[in-house]
Amino acid sequence: MQPTIEYTQDDSIKLFTIGVESALVVVDVQKDFCLGGALPVPQGDAIVPVLNRYIQKFEEANAPIYATRDWHPPNHISFTSQGGPWPPHCIQNTKGAEFHDALKLPQKAIIVSKADPNKEAYSGFDGTNLEKSLQQRGVRKVFVGGLATDYCVKSTVIAALKLGFEAVLLMDAIRGVNVKPGDSERALEEMMNNGAQKTMYSHTQLAN
Ligand SMILES: [Zn+2]
Repeated sequence: MQPTIEYTQDDSIKLFTIGVESALVVVDVQKDFCLGGALPVPQGDAIVPVLNRYIQKFEEANAPIYATRDWHPPNHISFTSQGGPWPPHCIQNTKGAEFHDALKLPQKAIIVSKADPNKEAYSGFDGTNLEKSLQQRGVRKVFVGGLATDYCVKSTVIAALKLGFEAVLLMDAIRGVNVKPGDSERALEEMMNNGAQKTMYSHTQLAN
């Protein structure tokens, strides 16, 4: 089935084919980052149904699907109790660290845990085996969605680019925290300046 190409004013939104060298990376769609969580991203829940459609498409393409997660020890360095900027969130084996209930990750999804107690790891590549795993599967292009645009999505995308992957932002499947107004806009700019590309669901198609 061919997707309908919808009109969009953003000329930087490009058409992409999901092929054998593609992977989906779902960043930190965890309960603590959603409504009712310890550190909710405004409208974070809204991206879940969209991500589910992407997940389906990547499954159809037989492309690997990754889900990163914050997986903090109770005394993580990023918590206010330890002098960090954030309230406690995504503590290992707690409800808040679980993926959003409505996120339909397939059984074969590869979970990437950012678990270093002494480091603030915003990027899914930081202290994990994500790079190696992508290389082993022959992935050259990562499609990134999730939470939050101005933190873990940004860091994951820029890290991917620096490691030599192509990185494509799923513009309809990201949301930002915007601690300072405009943070998400600046994050998008920074990603684009580092070579990121943009797409949205209507602009992705399966290889023939
Ligand atoms: Zn965290």
